[in-house]
Order: sequence, then structure tokens, then C-alpha cells
Amino acid sequence: MGVQTTSLQWPEPPVLACPVLKLLHGQTALVTGASSGIGRALAIALGHAGANVVINYLGSPEKAEEVAKEIQRCGSRAISVAADVSKPDQVQLMFQQTVAEFGRLDILVNNAGIQLDAAFEDLTLEQWQRVMDVNLTGPFLCCQEAVRLFKKQGIDASLSCAAGKILCISSVHEVIPWAGHVNYAASKGGLMLLMKSLAQEVAPQRIRVNSIAPGAIRTPTNTAAWNTREAYDDLLKLIPQKRIGEPEEIGRAAVWLASDQSDYVHGITLFIDGGMTLYPGFETGG
Ligand code: NAD
Repeated sequence: MGVQTTSLQWPEPPVLACPVLKLLHGQTALVTGASSGIGRALAIALGHAGANVVINYLGSPEKAEEVAKEIQRCGSRAISVAADVSKPDQVQLMFQQTVAEFGRLDILVNNAGIQLDAAFEDLTLEQWQRVMDVNLTGPFLCCQEAVRLFKKQGIDASLSCAAGKILCISSVHEVIPWAGHVNYAASKGGLMLLMKSLAQEVAPQRIRVNSIAPGAIRTPTNTAAWNTREAYDDLLKLIPQKRIGEPEEIGRAAVWLASDQSDYVHGITLFIDGGMTLYPGFETGG
């Protein structure tokens, strides 16, 4: 008898009233890879918190425009900008477009990321290189542009007590090894020390740098891990809270980490993973 696969259904979320608390009022945020999944939720959360948002995307513009519309619905400004974060000339142009449109940048969120999976022996140099280019070189290029801009701008105390804030969207795999995904885990481990070393270097200039490491989040790219009963039950074995995370949960944390509410938080990774990093294999005492 074949394996029975029961599809899981989630209800459509209601259209929410626009939040009144605008922690990021008047600031400008750039979110990479913001037309889908976690990046989409990040851009919307930052926009709802009062920031003007640059929605970076790769590919077709329609989904990016939908994100822009949702941000505009709640009173913030938003533009979408096509750019491949692994290409220095495209990254430079994206930052120039940001300044041309909004006059400044206050928050950079390095979210764009990819997985190209293979067993180690079969992993091609192209698969290794592309994942490094997008997941590690992309944040390097964007951080470099942002730091130069933040230093040039200095602090505008009417907006924030920091000269700028950088968030990297890492993964629990910055610390959890992942067989069959060596390129991805290596890129996220590298991102952790990029973030921490940069945080150390630019702290005196009042530039804050932190990461968020999501666990299993319900996004279209990892549908196979959660959309059947069997896959979902398997996934839950890895999560002490026994539920998958929602992209909006990453968005809410990002608003706090990008705001002055978290000003003394510097060079950390905030794990948002329902306890995935707590060695769930030991749940029953080992
Ligand atoms: P996603 O595929 O929906 O989002 C990635 C986005 O990055 C896409 O919009 C894609 O078009 C964009 N992108 C890819 N290459 C790009 C490039 N070169 N330049 C610009 N944009 C590019 O997947 P997601 O699940 O929302 O992942 C977002 C981030 O969260 C990634 O960095 C991922 O590693 C991380 N993450 C996701 C999960 C999860 O469970 N979904 C868990 C841990 C970490």
C-alpha cells in the first residue's frame, strides 16, 4: 500500500487593520529578496511600522508590486528595485536608487538566500559557488554599501539614535550541521561571523549589526517540508514547540531589532525557531 499523503489546509489570514504603533516612523529600510516568503513579511512589517521600504527582487516585478501596495495601504512609501545581490554593479545601482527616491537609508535587511542541495560527493562547484555568491557575497556587498552610506549620513536623532542598522537573515543552520546541504550550512555559518566581525568593527560609528536565525518557517520554497501530514509530523520531531513558524513572526522581531527599543542589542543572533536549537532528540531525557 502506498504512503497516504493528506494535504494540510490553512485558512486565508484576515486583512489586518494598520498598526498604530510606528516604531520606525520616517526611516528607510531596504529588504533584499522581498517579493516572497520571509522577505515579503519583513518588508510589510517594516512598512507597517512606519518605514519607507525598498523591495528588492529578482525576476518578475508583479509580486514585488503587491508587497509595495500593502505597504502603501498602511501609509508608508515603497518602491521595488530589481537587482541580483551577488552582482556588485547591480547592488551599487540599487543603493543609488534608494537614496534618489528616499534621500537616505536607515535599515538594511539581508534576506535574499537560496538552497541548491546535493549529497556532498555530487555537489558541483557551480552549486557551491552560487549559494556562496547569493547567501554570503550578497550580504557582503550590501553591508559594504550600507556602511559607507551610514557613515556619510551620520546620526539623525529625529529618526534614530543609531547611524544605521543591519539585520542578516541567517538560519538555525548557522550552528546546526546539515547533511546534504553543506553549501547552505557553510554559507550561513560564514554569515554569522561576517555579522559578528562587522558588528565589532562598526560599533564605534553607532552602526548596529545583528542576525535573525529562523527555524522552520512556512514559506512557499519549503512547501515539501510541511504540506502533507507525513512531512509535517516528521518536521515536528525537530521542533519542541510542535508547530511551524509563520513569516510574520520573523517580521515582528525584525521591527524590534531595527528600532531604538533594542539599541543595546549588538552582534547577536536571535533564534526564532520554536526551540529547534535545543537538541530536540533529548526531549525525553536522551
Ligand atoms: P524565498 O525563496 O521565498 O525567498 C528568497 C528570496 O530571495 C526570493 O524572493 C528570491 O527571488 C530572492 N533571491 C534569490 N536569489 C537572489 C539574488 N541573487 N538577488 C536578489 N534576490 C534573490 O525563501 P524564504 O524561505 O523566504 O527565505 C528567505 C531567507 O530566510 C533566506 O535567506 C533563507 O535562507 C532564510 N531562511 C528560511 C527558512 C525557512 O524555513 N523558510 C529558515 C531559515 C532561514
